[in-house]
Amino acid sequence: MNEFDVIAKYFLPLTQGRAEAGSLRDDAAVLDVPEGCELVVTSDTLNAGTHFPVEAAPDDIAHKALRVNLSDLAAMGARPYAYQLNIAFPERPREDWLAAFTAALLKDQAEFGIFCSGGDTTSIKGPLSISVTAMGLADRGKVWKRSGAESGDVLVLTGPPGDAWIGLQILQGKMRTEDDEYFTRRYYRPSPRFVAGPVHGAIDISDGLVADLRHICHASGLAAHIAFEKILFSPQAEKLLAAGQVTPEQLLTGGDDYELLLACAPEYAGDLPGHVIGRFETGAPDVCITKAGVKLDFQSSGWTHF
Ligand code: ADP
Ligand code: MG
Repeated sequence: MNEFDVIAKYFLPLTQGRAEAGSLRDDAAVLDVPEGCELVVTSDTLNAGTHFPVEAAPDDIAHKALRVNLSDLAAMGARPYAYQLNIAFPERPREDWLAAFTAALLKDQAEFGIFCSGGDTTSIKGPLSISVTAMGLADRGKVWKRSGAESGDVLVLTGPPGDAWIGLQILQGKMRTEDDEYFTRRYYRPSPRFVAGPVHGAIDISDGLVADLRHICHASGLAAHIAFEKILFSPQAEKLLAAGQVTPEQLLTGGDDYELLLACAPEYAGDLPGHVIGRFETGAPDVCITKAGVKLDFQSSGWTHF
């Protein structure tokens, strides 16, 4: 199978016949931004060996590649619209790999209401690299910004932090638990949290809760105060925490979680899916976490590439 056969057999079905993709017969896709909307665009690249283990299964890679991008759209308050799929293959891809990879994408397309509008297929003298550019729509002027948090806002977290970090430790052979399957699934299949509501500012916690919250603090010029006791971990992570197998620092600074942190006025917090873990106040832009009234000091704050 040459490149064009691969595109016709495996990637064309991802366009689901949408006119914007022009049956992949043109040089580019033509997207339609409805009146009153803005196009929200985000890219995330996954490189084998860096962003997922080289032995990862094609469906796991597909789910992760699309979902990390969807999470960025969710963090901006945008609705999914279309995505571009750019793949660099280190060798000629196997058909069973392509079939499993694209079947997983189709499943997520149905779940999240998005289609593939095109992409690029190349070869590389290096590891498999998958880059997705996702496009979403938001009502004009209504996107959520990291700079939008206001003093007095509460901080809502949409799901348990730390699970994906544990999942990665398991995949790297550094940890064994009774719930390995749960944790590795949380690593490979983040759930993009599409939320509607009167949110002032938001971020997804892909680099770790502390590091990402610090981004909101800096962008909004506010201090964030969190009570450790308010953070709801998964029952599976709670068990490890109680047994001393993981530390609060690991769960709050480990990356890959893709839950959202939302800033909103206290009276609206109940309308949002998640729970309040703290609040924003005027003060030096930093994150303060207290446990039983004592400030927690962390060595690291989160994942960086360099
Ligand atoms: P070019 O030579 O301009 O790079 P290609 O031959 O790579 O064009 O692409 C032909 C068509 O196939 C384009 O419409 C492109 O969007 C689509 N395409 C190529 N690779 C992919 C992919 N991995 N996923 C989806 N569409 C793709
Ligand atoms: Mg190309």
